[in-house]
Amino acid sequence: MKKIGMTTPLVELDGDEMTRIIWQQIKDHLLAPFLELKTEYYDLGLQHRDETNDQVTVDAAEAIKKYGVGVKCATITANADRMVEYKLKELWKSPNATIRAILDGTVFRAPIIVKGIEPYVPRWRKPITVARHAYGDIYKSAELRVDGPAKAELVVTYKDGKVDKKTVYDFECPGIVMGMHNKDNSITSFAHACFQYALSVKQDLWFATKDTISKTYDQRFKEIFEEIFAQEYAAKFQEAGIEYMYTLIDDAVARVIRSDGGMVWACKNYDGDVMSDLVSTAFGSLAMMTSVLVSPDGHYEYEAAHGTVQRHYYQHLKGQETSTNSVATIFAWSGALRKRGELDGNQDLIAFADNLEKASLATIEEGEMTKDLYALSTVSPKKTLNTLDFILAIKTRLEKMYQ
Ligand code: NAP
Ligand code: MG
Repeated sequence: MKKIGMTTPLVELDGDEMTRIIWQQIKDHLLAPFLELKTEYYDLGLQHRDETNDQVTVDAAEAIKKYGVGVKCATITANADRMVEYKLKELWKSPNATIRAILDGTVFRAPIIVKGIEPYVPRWRKPITVARHAYGDIYKSAELRVDGPAKAELVVTYKDGKVDKKTVYDFECPGIVMGMHNKDNSITSFAHACFQYALSVKQDLWFATKDTISKTYDQRFKEIFEEIFAQEYAAKFQEAGIEYMYTLIDDAVARVIRSDGGMVWACKNYDGDVMSDLVSTAFGSLAMMTSVLVSPDGHYEYEAAHGTVQRHYYQHLKGQETSTNSVATIFAWSGALRKRGELDGNQDLIAFADNLEKASLATIEEGEMTKDLYALSTVSPKKTLNTLDFILAIKTRLEKMYQ
């Protein structure tokens, strides 16, 4: 076959451990034989981040801003153990945090649904996408331990000297105190990203906070969403036949469980952190979850939701056979290729992304899968494949589509 061409490069962010092994296998067997693959390569492997004093992460994020679409392999977030293991100069920040700080935006996480793997919530027939605001709240807070009787206050000092002050608590004993923030412009871009994403997938958007208790902080989120919806999206939603619903987080949780899925669920940063893990687990597997960061300027970064699968990597290093699921990483590539195709008006590339996903799902639905899915799948007969053989089984199906 004639390979499919690309006009603009994808920004490629390589990573660590088992996912780095899978990354190369995907490129060698599922992409290079079919595409004139054009990427601008950044090595975010921990060793190279250390060598470049983490400049490579910043450069990669800037490249995503330049070209518009990136695809990222899972990376190690350095901790004390890794400091020793990789003889690091310092404890580099999480690459995801660095990239998010540069691109801003919202993380959308959606399960990959496949026949034979039943969600733990049997009513869920359609994917639930959790949209997590990726800025502020407890992730950028100031905390203190209070040693004994003390008055804790919230103080805001304006440039003109005006001061707003409130007592948080008059401590009669030791305790703890925290101050957190968010910004109107970040909440605004979160709202735009959610409304636009819901329109692009033609699914209802739900948003929930605890505004009955947090009458200023969470209330502000609610107001901004309402204003932006009324001003810019109400008509578009009506045209697309979808709805925007605001409710209390408690009510949202109950409704999500009773629903049959198929909505985008916008969550504040902490709610999104917790709920995306809950939703992915309930759909069956973290290895079947994709993640995309959408910036307010319309830049996209695709990745798998899971980590570098360290335990499997150590087995691999010992020469033992592994059966690591590559689906989420494959879908990161297909998502990025599809978006590149859309932006460049490249129909062949869009079709290839669709076919790559179809071939991956068909492989599992026809009973060939990695060990993690074997334990969950109700397909019969079924068999377990090792890491590479699973990718090759997908390749066989993809080749048939292009014969
Ligand atoms: P992990 O890589 O997500 O793996 C945890 C466990 O989940 C694995 O040991 C494995 O279970 C199962 N698993 C996850 N992905 C799988 C896959 N594709 N196929 C089969 N099984 C899979 O989390 P971790 O081991 O806690 O973290 C490892 C490293 O990843 C850490 O250094 C962390 O910083 C990093 N991390 C990176 C990202 C990111 O870049 N986005 C996200 C999270 C974590 P079994 O061992 O039972 O088979
Ligand atoms: Mg989490």
